[in-house]
Amino acid sequence: MTSLPTYVSENKFTSAGALIGVAVCFAVGFAGWPYQMAITAMTNPEGPGFIALILGILIGILVGKLMCRLGCRGGRNVMWFAVAAGALALVVGHVQAYVAFRQGILQTDFETDGEREFVLEQYGFFDYINWRVESGWVTTSTELKGPNKGKVTTTEYKGANVYFLWLGEAFLILAPAAFIALYLGRQTRCQKCHKQMWSRQLGTVQPVDPRVLKAAEHAGDLQTLLYPQQVSARGDSRMVYILYSCPACGQSAYVSGDLRWTEGNKLMSQTLLDRAILPPETLTQLTTRLAVFAEVDATRRSVAQPAAWSPSPPPLNAPMLPPAPPAPIMPKPRDRAPWE
Ligand SMILES: [Zn+2]
Repeated sequence: MTSLPTYVSENKFTSAGALIGVAVCFAVGFAGWPYQMAITAMTNPEGPGFIALILGILIGILVGKLMCRLGCRGGRNVMWFAVAAGALALVVGHVQAYVAFRQGILQTDFETDGEREFVLEQYGFFDYINWRVESGWVTTSTELKGPNKGKVTTTEYKGANVYFLWLGEAFLILAPAAFIALYLGRQTRCQKCHKQMWSRQLGTVQPVDPRVLKAAEHAGDLQTLLYPQQVSARGDSRMVYILYSCPACGQSAYVSGDLRWTEGNKLMSQTLLDRAILPPETLTQLTTRLAVFAEVDATRRSVAQPAAWSPSPPPLNAPMLPPAPPAPIMPKPRDRAPWE
């Protein structure tokens, strides 16, 4: 039996890739600096939440795209890098706030310079965090319409509520970053140049015997999976072939085969052949065979249609049409796979 290589969906790092990954994380994580400056300037509660969400989306897209282009594929690989970049952005944000806090002390008037030094020494990073939790902060929102228009509501967040807000902020940044990176990391990419592959439906063979095909998948019988026999029994089980091709290098091509059928109103699908890497001549053979099936299918449908419709009888004086020619016969199945 010939066994063909298949697409490797998880591509972990080379040592060079890991270094680049860490660099990407730091570059993206630094976005926490301007982010913190932006939310500090706001007093209403919705603004910072919205900006946090935007930052999370940006981190997901940037880390996802960059990591995939650098050769680190796979949903989970990329997702954890996006989570790390998001966590770093949160830390960088707090550092920015701390730096601004120290600057505030430096600009405050003290009796002596020694006194200023003393205050600065009192507030290390974690002392500052404790101070933030204890003092909390105040948000104001103004009614924009209704009978209370113009009324200003003030809300104070202190103690545990501050941690709760920080948790919400972390969720708004990390969740979209993780989901977007997971989605981007799972895309099928060229194993040579890491560009995203284009996919299109190559063709369908119908009807097929699902038991034969499932057994072939179990046995790793690629010949049967690529060249299934049509069966005479009526049924809607079909093999649908999808071609993935690289738009950049034009060299890579993978073929997937899905077994599809209907159960009640539901369309079921099971991938039996997952992105096999075919030699060019095998791909040509497969494409040719599927094109023949498609042509026969189209002819059969166009012949069957007038009989199926016949909405009203023809007028009495109309000449009778000759009977439709018989449908062309099914294509002859190949008895040997082309690579044999
Ligand atoms: Zn390529």
